[in-house]
Order: sequence, then C-alpha cells, then structure tokens
Amino acid sequence: MRRARTGGDDRKILRQDGNLFQRSGEGHEKIGTIKFNANLKQKTQVGIIGAGPAGLTLALLLHRATIDCVILEYRSREYVESRVRAGLLEQNTVDLLHELGVANRLNKEGLRHRGVYLSFDEQRIRIPFDELTGGRCITIYGQQEVLKDQVQACIEKGIEILFEAEVTEINGVATNSSSLVYRQNDEQHVLSCDFVAGCDGFHGIARTSLPNNIYNEFRKDYPFSWLGILAHAKPSSDELVYAYHQRGFALHSLRSETVSRLYIQVDNDDRLENWSDDKIWNELSLRLQTEGFHLNTGAIFEKAITPMRSFMIDNLQYGRLFLAGDAAHIVPPTGGKGLNLAVADIKWLAGALIHFYKHNKEDQLQGYTANALRRVWRAQDFSNFMTYLFHKQAAHGSFEYNLQKSKFDYIRLSKAYATTIAENYVGLKDI
Ligand SMILES: Cc1cc2nc3c(=O)[nH]c(=O)nc-3n(C[C@H](O)[C@H](O)[C@H](O)COP(=O)(O)OP(=O)(O)OC[C@H]3O[C@@H](n4cnc5c(N)ncnc54)[C@H](O)[C@@H]3O)c2cc1C
Repeated sequence: MRRARTGGDDRKILRQDGNLFQRSGEGHEKIGTIKFNANLKQKTQVGIIGAGPAGLTLALLLHRATIDCVILEYRSREYVESRVRAGLLEQNTVDLLHELGVANRLNKEGLRHRGVYLSFDEQRIRIPFDELTGGRCITIYGQQEVLKDQVQACIEKGIEILFEAEVTEINGVATNSSSLVYRQNDEQHVLSCDFVAGCDGFHGIARTSLPNNIYNEFRKDYPFSWLGILAHAKPSSDELVYAYHQRGFALHSLRSETVSRLYIQVDNDDRLENWSDDKIWNELSLRLQTEGFHLNTGAIFEKAITPMRSFMIDNLQYGRLFLAGDAAHIVPPTGGKGLNLAVADIKWLAGALIHFYKHNKEDQLQGYTANALRRVWRAQDFSNFMTYLFHKQAAHGSFEYNLQKSKFDYIRLSKAYATTIAENYVGLKDI
C-alpha cells in the first residue's frame, strides 16, 4: 500500500547536519531533523526520481558525461523489470540505445518493422515507412526488456539505483540547495543534489510539487478504453495492423515470434469479467478481418482494460526541478509514443545539464521546456489523430464515420498524406 506523501515545499531547507528548517517571516524555524545513514550516498549532482525509461536513460547519458547521479525508485527491481507496458520503439529511441551501448539484446531480439497495415471496413493498405522516410523504421521490443538492459548497464557502470526507495519530499528547488527526502526499509533518508529530475511517471510526486500557478494543464478523456491481451500465439501478421470496424477499433501487434499483443476498443465502463478468452478471440477475428487474413489464437496470459487519455502541462521546470516523460504528459497509446516521448525529453534535459556542468551556463536549462514541448505537442496531435481515425465514435454511416472514411481513402490516394503518417510514426528526426 502506498504511503501518504507530505509533498514538496520550497519554503523548507535541509541543512547538512540533518536539521530541517522552514521559512517563517524573515527568518527560519527548525521543524525537524532527518537522520543520515552513513552507508548511503548523501550528495549527488543530479537526483533522479524514478527508474522508468526517462530516469534510466538520463542516468546513462549523465554518467557518460561524468556527471554524478543517483536514481531513487519506489518499486522493486523485479517489479520494474517485469511491468508490461509499451513495445514500439521509434528510430530515434533505437539510435540512442545504440549510442549508449545498451542495444545488444535489442539487436538480436527486437523486430524491425518497415511498414504498418491500416484497415478500414475490411479494406487494407500498407504504409511503407522506409520508402517514405529515407529508410527509417520502428522496432518492436518490450519496455520491460529495455529497462532490464538499462538497469543492468547502470549497475555495471556503478550508477547508484536505490530500489524500494520512495521520495516523499522535494525541497529547496527554488534555491541552490535542493534535496530529496525518501523512505527505504521504513527509514527516512535525505539526498542533497544540485538538480532534481522528476522522471516519476504520471502518479509521481514531481508534478504535484510544482506551484500550481506556473503551468496550464490540458486534459482529454476519450469515451472508450482498450482491452489488451498478451497471448502465446504466433503473430498473424508480419507488421502491426490498425483496424476500424463497425464493431469498433482493433489492433494487432506483437512482442516476439511466439507472443502476440492485441487490443480491442471497449466502453469505459466495461469489465474484464464480461470478456471470456473465446469472446475476445472472436471479436478480434471479426474486427481484423480482411481478405486472406487468418487470426492465430493461443493461451492468453495477460488481460487488462486501460482508459485512453491525453494529458499534459506546459511548463516542465521550476527552479532546479525538471520534469520528463509521463510525469509531464500522457498520450493515448494509439500512436505508440509514450516511451519514445520520455526518451526524447531526456535528450533535451541531459544535453542542457551537460552544457551547464561543462560551461557553467544555464541558457539550455532555461530553454528545456520550449524544446521538449515542440515534440510533445507533435506527439499529442499524432496520437489524437490516430485515435480518432480508427475508433468508432458514432453510428456507422454517421457524419463522423464518413470523415474517418474520407481520411482513410485520402491516405490510400496520396503519397503526401501517407508520408505524413509514416514520418510521425517512426518519429520526426529534428524536433
Ligand atoms: C498499462 C500501460 C500500458 C502502456 N502501453 C503503452 C504502449 O503500448 N505504447 C506506448 O508508447 N506507451 C505505453 N504506455 C506508456 C509508457 O509505458 C510510458 O509512457 C513510459 O513508461 C513513460 O516512462 P517514464 O519513465 O516517464 O515513466 P514510468 O515508466 O511511469 O516510470 C516512473 C517510475 O517512477 C517511479 N516513481 C513514482 N513515484 C515515485 C516516488 N515518489 N519515488 C520514487 N519513485 C517513484 C515509478 O515506480 C516508476 O517506476 C503504457 C503505460 C501504461 C501504464
């Protein structure tokens, strides 16, 4: 069970001796003492909250530039390495993992896809990514596999990751003496740092520690959810298949040569109990149907319903606290962007931190939000576009349906439109 958080507070300052003060009027009032554990590191340059794709990628980039960092992660290593989530890596993400030297397994086990199938009312077309984008592609490789590779690399390089360490307070980020208070093994500890990277996902503490008058929040909840399964079934297609069907959206994806990942659109109030394995396979078979297509079935070993939403804030920094990844934005999974966007934020943030330590200049740190948001908005738009193109929103034959169908027909006719989809799907190179 999750402990209640005390939240961050900029009026709080932690002194080196462990005494915690709070600003009151013109002075400071002592409000507590935190014990230091001599066995744990007490100071670092960048304190990273969260060992997801954002936090781990940041740690590896900083370490390569000889910047010291510590990752504090609430969950256990086993949990982090087995949590099944994203699986689609953009070309930029793959390139960065190569650059960081953590792509050995990805090269062997990742499945490179040069295109995607789009289907509408049982008519299918293919978008050839490589032809339309000068050879750029996507790679299918599970997020949990990326994390296993990154955690292993961090450990081998001596980057400190504290698992089962929950950050409960972020203090002093508006000053030059930031610190993170965290709990591990029922003891409270503190880590002083120059900067704090909030890579702690949507439910983390970093976003809630920002003063709420420094950003605008944008949120859209979609009127449908995804029922997703993982099954021991040979993939029925060599590439992903997105399908609009009058019964609702379906997606055929895969994780390996023996494991398929499939999704169907369901209502927001639907429940797993309503969906037997047979019913799921039957529905998938109907919705993915096109001439000559045969759906391979197998034992389902994971089943979940996920709501669809778009969310973001438009300021990712406050003083010495910087947010990246799901901490700052969520996209509906239709565009396969969540993990990739987390890594894209980190490229900007790592670059700005390295620039600061090398040249003692804050200009790139100041520009972090503006740089990261360009890609975030692009991904929000693309994810929203793919969601509305393929989900059933209104009655078959309605105005909305005809707009969707017209878009699909246009993609089929126009190389320019198909190229727009391809370049967004594999990930734009230069933003
Ligand atoms: C069920 C599900 C399915 C998804 N499927 C897809 C998909 O198919 N395609 C896609 O592109 N994206 C998908 N996503 C999104 C994708 O997984 C995320 O965008 C990605 O994980 C973001 O990485 P991150 O590092 O920003 O955050 P996270 O991966 O969420 O990592 C944040 C970490 O911070 C830790 N943390 C939180 N609070 C604290 C604290 N107080 N102290 C210490 N640690 C803390 C958390 O335990 C977590 O390990 C899915 C997400 C979910 C939840």
